[in-house]
Amino acid sequence: MIKRKVVLTFPQNLLDKTITYRLIKDYDLIINILKANITPKEQGVLVLEIEGKKQKLESGLDYLRDSGITVQALINDIKWQQKKCIHCTECVTVCPTGAFAVNRQTMQVEFNKKKCIACGLCINVCPYRAIEIVI
Ligand code: SF4
Ligand code: SF4
Repeated sequence: MIKRKVVLTFPQNLLDKTITYRLIKDYDLIINILKANITPKEQGVLVLEIEGKKQKLESGLDYLRDSGITVQALINDIKWQQKKCIHCTECVTVCPTGAFAVNRQTMQVEFNKKKCIACGLCINVCPYRAIEIVI
């Protein structure tokens, strides 16, 4: 048995798919939902811990990819380089937990590390590379 922590990003048309049920029933996997969220762009984000036999786990992940779901490994942590940030709010738009948010008084982007689940969705959208993966 092996365990993986993954971030699943769903397009709008797959939001109602019963994917966790399929993973349990068809692939004998044990699913622990660590976080579930719908972003403002109507994308679904699920953070799962999946446990099962290696072959079945890989097949289950292939099923997700074949269904049009983006599967990413959960990263360890992120680091915000505040000095590089120009407060464009791109990260705020994709962050499913509100860890990146706009302070309405200062109109500046702020990062609340306690809310971050290390899904990594903000890293690629930052045009100034102000968000880095911590390995
Ligand atoms: S990694 Fe980025 S997008 Fe994901 S929760 Fe943390 S701050 Fe938000
Ligand atoms: S995407 Fe990058 S530059 Fe834009 S607000 Fe977020 S951290 Fe700052």
